[in-house]
Amino acid sequence: MTVATHYDQASLHIAEGHDEEAPLVIVEGFLGSTGSILWGKFEDYLNGDGEIVKEGRRRRKVVFARVGPVSSLHDRACELYYAVKGGQVDYGEEHARLHVHGRHGRSLLQGLYPEWSVAKPLHLLGHSMGGATIVKLQDLLKHKYFGEGSHPDMILSISTISAPFRGTQLVYSLGERTDAAPLVRPLSVGSLLAKVVHVASYLAPLMPPALDMLSDSRNLSFRHASVLTLFRQLWKSDWAESRDATPFDVTFEAADEREANGEGVLCPQTYYRSHVACMTEREPAGSGNDLHVPSCKDAFTYALYLSSGVMGQFDFSTLRPAPSFAIASSHGRDDVEQAGERAQELALGEEYWANDGVVPIFSQWHPLPCQDTKCRHLSDTSARDLTNVAPEPGIWHVYHERDASHISVVPFWMATERQCAFWKDLGCWLRSIERHRRQRV
Ligand SMILES: [Zn+2]
Ligand SMILES: [Zn+2]
Repeated sequence: MTVATHYDQASLHIAEGHDEEAPLVIVEGFLGSTGSILWGKFEDYLNGDGEIVKEGRRRRKVVFARVGPVSSLHDRACELYYAVKGGQVDYGEEHARLHVHGRHGRSLLQGLYPEWSVAKPLHLLGHSMGGATIVKLQDLLKHKYFGEGSHPDMILSISTISAPFRGTQLVYSLGERTDAAPLVRPLSVGSLLAKVVHVASYLAPLMPPALDMLSDSRNLSFRHASVLTLFRQLWKSDWAESRDATPFDVTFEAADEREANGEGVLCPQTYYRSHVACMTEREPAGSGNDLHVPSCKDAFTYALYLSSGVMGQFDFSTLRPAPSFAIASSHGRDDVEQAGERAQELALGEEYWANDGVVPIFSQWHPLPCQDTKCRHLSDTSARDLTNVAPEPGIWHVYHERDASHISVVPFWMATERQCAFWKDLGCWLRSIERHRRQRV
């Protein structure tokens, strides 16, 4: 058992709270663990500071919950729960046995919001994997994974930005085998990344918080593992090439498994909102297909420009097993192999190729296909005043950010017009949810 020192204190970023406003907990994405250092002065806009005095409000309490930057959705969701509630992270006996890692993780002396309950619910905001983590957490709460007190209504609202709910083709471009996930191709970017993570985990006790992989349950640090073990993991990673790691969780296969298990089904008391970024456009008219090419480019997002181009041309027919959306588009054909082979020529819409450099837009919308959930797709954020949209629980409100990459809104604070508008609007949204909820009870 490891007792946290810097973990549960230094990562806190708490403004003065107010009893009547539910705190906002922010969950970062893959490799994200910087908290407010990068996210910047968003709180000024979240609180709409000019209006605070007028309405007599105080600043909303905002906290960053630290979860494993490369952990699986399940592990991240457990870490998120205990980061908020406090106590020793418990991944579950069955899960730990199935995935061959320790049942318990780090002990958190002080939770970010120990009084968290149905009576004192939270707003949750997630970027990228952070968004998918929150949905996973709500599913665990629904199944009372953390005991009798667990309840999905502990989450008042879920807001996501560029979340890969339904997987992304980028993971295959980075190294995941298209025919044998979770195996990773040697000498790929994904393979190299796994080696970096193992070295960071090995040196964990010496690492600064931003490079802390929270991999305590895997006993990978030099306090628990020999140099020989490290080299063996560098040769072939038991973690990265498992079904309990981020890369597999963002495959279409894993997303299909989650949905088949009922994950992502809406809870009637929770308010849902997703922000969908897109930096590509359809190939010129006359090209006869729905493939996409990058439409915006600057030095800051050059890597995303390259990845968005690759994703916009991805051949879904190479995937085995064929993803459910390819099978669904085969008009009822039940031959999986043939459905996969025909994926390109079948009725896949351009939303499978349109992307933000990391996640295709159909995956950012919400879990489950539109026909299997409740959703309202609203027009481009730049074209409307979002503050006029009334909150409604139990349905996804989907907003599109045009000419935006995976990192245009968060986490890098540049005080852009888009960022200022996003946070101001989110503040209005959270306040209107609270008003709406008060009227209902
Ligand atoms: Zn696990
Ligand atoms: Zn939809």
